[in-house]
Amino acid sequence: MKLPDFTEFEPFVALRQQMGARRQGHFELFDPKRHLNGRERSALETTGLKRSLSQLRALADGTWAIKNSRILIYSAHTPGHYHLAQCPSLLTQKRQEVVITTRRQGQIPGFTEDVTAQVCSDCLQLLGYKGFDLTRNRKIAYSKALLKDFSREDFFKVFTLYPVRGIAEHTLTESPLTQSNHQASGDA
Ligand SMILES: [Zn+2]
Repeated sequence: MKLPDFTEFEPFVALRQQMGARRQGHFELFDPKRHLNGRERSALETTGLKRSLSQLRALADGTWAIKNSRILIYSAHTPGHYHLAQCPSLLTQKRQEVVITTRRQGQIPGFTEDVTAQVCSDCLQLLGYKGFDLTRNRKIAYSKALLKDFSREDFFKVFTLYPVRGIAEHTLTESPLTQSNHQASGDA
């Protein structure tokens, strides 16, 4: 008996993608402790969520995540700026409540419309983002331009927004990252 071949059958391919199974025979069971649900994802994209830093994952590459998504952080203790990484100005307030978001465009939640949210330069320095380094003379002009034209869309191309898999994390009591020029290459 010859069985029909459904491997390229469009509705099944679409269903497989919806299930997050990237390869055939690959399927990860949804685990609400480790995976964001639809409601959480949409809140992160719009209004943001309030969490304390201790509820977040401090990834070993210096960025932050909640469950399987990287996030950006706004803290009322650093008005005007939002954070990409585990920078000193955040870590001094480990119990503080912050706003976390995955918004790639438009206003960062927590900011009012008349304030332009600026990316934190300490975070860029910590990550060595695209070679960012304000401590080296020959890199200052380049780094200032990178700061001015910073794009969250681009950031999440370098540090994959979602899903975050297989990246180690550390607890915030461990010594914070030393300044490094670590360049992330994504999760894959
Ligand atoms: Zn920062």
